[in-house]
Amino acid sequence: MLRLEDVTVRYGARAALDAVDLSVAEHETVCVLGPSGSGKSTLLRVVAGLQAPDAGRVLLSGRDQRGVPAHKRGLGLMFQDHQLFPQRDAGGNVAFGLQMRRLGRDRVEHRVTELLDLVGLPGAARRAIPSLSGGEQQRVALARALAPEPKLLMLDEPLGQLDRGLRERLVVELRLLFRRLGTTVLAVTHDQGEAFALADRVVVMREGRIAQAGTPLEVWQRP
Ligand code: ADP
Ligand code: ADP
Repeated sequence: MLRLEDVTVRYGARAALDAVDLSVAEHETVCVLGPSGSGKSTLLRVVAGLQAPDAGRVLLSGRDQRGVPAHKRGLGLMFQDHQLFPQRDAGGNVAFGLQMRRLGRDRVEHRVTELLDLVGLPGAARRAIPSLSGGEQQRVALARALAPEPKLLMLDEPLGQLDRGLRERLVVELRLLFRRLGTTVLAVTHDQGEAFALADRVVVMREGRIAQAGTPLEVWQRP
C-alpha cells in the first residue's frame, strides 16, 4: 500500500530522514516509535505530500507520488491538535471529510450518523465542539478522517493529549475498529505503550534512521 524507498530529507547539514525504507501492507497498522526529534513528523509530512523529499521515492499503491499534491493522495489525516472547526457542530466536522464527494444531503447525513456511531459517539451530530471532552473531540477527528474511506489513515500522536486511563481504553477501541474496517494505518508516537498496543508492526526511529522493526513482541524482547 505504502512504500518509502531510500527517503532522505535534509535541513542544512542535518538529515531529518536518512535513507529511510519503510512499507505498510494493506490492512496493516504500523507505528513509528521514536523520541522527539527522531524524524517522525517529517516522515508523515513526506508521505502526506506536504513536503518533498530531497532524495528517494514515496509510492502509494505502487505509484510514485512525485508531483502528486496532498489532496490527491487519498489519505486520511488525524494530527495531534486535531484541528476541528469549533464553529461547526460535530456532524458538520465529520461532513467536512465528505465534501470532496458529491453526495446528496440525505446521504451525507446518513454517513455522518454512521461514522459517529462507529467511533462511539451515537447521536452527537448536533453537539457543539467546545462542549465535547478531549476524548470525544478525538473521536470526532477520527470520524472525519475516516469519512472519505482513505486508502491509508495517518495518525500523529493520536492520543497524545489525553489522560492515561482514557488513552489506554481508546487505544484498544481503535485497534478493534481498524481491524474490523480493514483500515491501513501509519501512526507515529513517542509513547511506547501506545505503539505496542496499536501496532501490528513497530518501527523504531532514532536520529532519522530506522533503528529496529518488528512485531511488538519482537521489539519488546530486543529493546
Ligand atoms: P519528531 O517528529 O520525531 O519530533 P521531526 O521530524 O519534527 O521529529 O524533526 C526531525 C529533525 O529535523 C529534528 O532534528 C528537527 O529539529 C529537524 N527539523 C524539523 N523541521 C525542521 C525545519 N523546518 N527546519 C530545520 N530543522 C527541522
Ligand atoms: P510544488 O512545486 O507545488 O511543490 P511539485 O509538483 O514539485 O509541486 O510537488 C507536488 C507535490 O509532490 C508536493 O506535495 C511535493 O511535496 C510532492 N513531491 C515533490 N517531489 C516529490 C518526490 N520526489 N517524492 C514524493 N513527493 C514529492
